[in-house]
Amino acid sequence: MKCKKCGNKAVIKLRAHRIALCREDFLSFVLNRVQQTIKRYKLFVAKERVVVAVSGGKDSLTLFDILQRLGYPVEGFHIDLGIDGFSNRAREAVEVFFAKREAPLHIRFLREEVGAGMREIASQVRRPLCSLCGLMRRYIMNRFAWEKRFSALATGHNLDDEGAALLGNLMRWQIGYLARQAPVLPAIYPRLAKKAKPLALLSEREVLAYCILRAIEYHDEQCPYAKGATSRSNKEALNLLEYYSPGSKIRFYQEFLKHQGIFPDSASHDLRECSMCGFLTNRETCQFCEILEQYTGSPVPVRDSETGKG
Ligand SMILES: [Zn+2]
Ligand SMILES: [Zn+2]
Repeated sequence: MKCKKCGNKAVIKLRAHRIALCREDFLSFVLNRVQQTIKRYKLFVAKERVVVAVSGGKDSLTLFDILQRLGYPVEGFHIDLGIDGFSNRAREAVEVFFAKREAPLHIRFLREEVGAGMREIASQVRRPLCSLCGLMRRYIMNRFAWEKRFSALATGHNLDDEGAALLGNLMRWQIGYLARQAPVLPAIYPRLAKKAKPLALLSEREVLAYCILRAIEYHDEQCPYAKGATSRSNKEALNLLEYYSPGSKIRFYQEFLKHQGIFPDSASHDLRECSMCGFLTNRETCQFCEILEQYTGSPVPVRDSETGKG
């Protein structure tokens, strides 16, 4: 198998793109793909302040590596969820990665933010742990991005994640979600950073191959509380279609993006400030404060940095 670009020995075959590439040309292919995504969908421009949410897994560390190599002045943000040894190992992978490249990293500990780890909170609050965790992580990330005045919050969602979410939303015809599923979500309120997914056009396999070829040491461990995520069956369904018809995954997602304008966006209009913490919500009290109140019986502890001047 020879590289289509240079004729040297290829290390990977990309059936969706009908090419095989050597190491160097594959790495360039990935960088170009991300740069195209950023430009075509107007994720952010070179002078913007972008923070990357890093869990320690392959997608988020790969995203950071790519954005840094493309010359964006990115910073990392990690939340230690306080889940037994799992969170320690995730944080260590992140710290090693950032120390090696002397890149700016911000870490927040759930235990310091709210006084408890995820498992203790979940044991007191009637809500599935994964949905609780997702909700709290989103709140802390959004709030951090606002406090530190970042204009964009980038996450490592890849094509498999986006395709699976799209398929799930279509299977249930959740029209409202379809309007807001794109590589970029504009900031719909002054206190909200826009959301960007620069890996949205790269498959999970391509991201993993890049990660391995760049020798990125990532945290490769399932959360001990993750139960068969619903997105997994959708990913398997798309992989089956991809196997029989290479390129169908990327077509499914990109063709959707072309027609996305036909879906009305209803979710973003009635944002207001939470009566307890002052951050954004579409109800009287935000869900984060509701959860904390159930857990501790008191509202969110107020920190100095909440003036937003930090
Ligand atoms: Zn080559
Ligand atoms: Zn609140």
